[in-house]
Amino acid sequence: MSKQFAIIGMGRFGSSVARTLYEMDFEVMGIDENEERINENIQYVTHAVAADTTDERALREIGIRNFDVVVVAIGADIQASILTVLILKEMGVKKIVAKAQNERHGQVLYKVGADRVVFPERDMGVRVAHNLISANVLDFIELAEDYSVAEVVASSNMIGKNLRQLDLRARYEVNVIAIKSGDKFNIAPSPDEVIREGDVLVVIGNNRHLKTFEEQD
Ligand code: ATP
Repeated sequence: MSKQFAIIGMGRFGSSVARTLYEMDFEVMGIDENEERINENIQYVTHAVAADTTDERALREIGIRNFDVVVVAIGADIQASILTVLILKEMGVKKIVAKAQNERHGQVLYKVGADRVVFPERDMGVRVAHNLISANVLDFIELAEDYSVAEVVASSNMIGKNLRQLDLRARYEVNVIAIKSGDKFNIAPSPDEVIREGDVLVVIGNNRHLKTFEEQD
């Protein structure tokens, strides 16, 4: 059977996670203490339940232990977010993913038992900042502390050249892992692949090297 997910907190983040999983045909339970939030999201989840997740009994009634992954997407109420993670951990939930408002909140979430902590606002800030450095940077995703993947529109001096001629690995120490060309998405492009106007290069590398590459024109 495919994985079953429970999403606690149907704010902007939680409802977006829930809806995406639901559209991918997973079973998703949405939980929020606010009835209105439940009503807003009812058509985007398999089940929706109004409950306060800082109440262990309520979680037990929902059968929260049976879910493969529980996402705690409570934001502003940091105390409720921490308490919910703590209770889920004590109840033996297999995998807990929690959203943090800031680094400190994140540290505490790990301490009380989150298996993974996400920082949507911080990460989106990083992505937007890279787009501000250069309009050519469409997206930027940090993979590890020092390594990222960037989507960069091919600059005019790349057009008509193939990857071998561009030699980005030697010049910038970045690797092209894919090229988006219109509707086509070429993963693992060959060195003979010629760059066309409007192509988007998906490159991977160390952040310092990526920055140098992003700034070139
Ligand atoms: P987002 O950025 O995702 O919109 P946010 O930072 O605004 O989130 P909140 O609105 O504080 O986050 O929390 C998201 C949802 O979590 C809200 O709909 C809120 O009702 C719900 N929530 C808060 N505390 C609890 C709780 N103890 N039990 C269940 N749901 C809760």
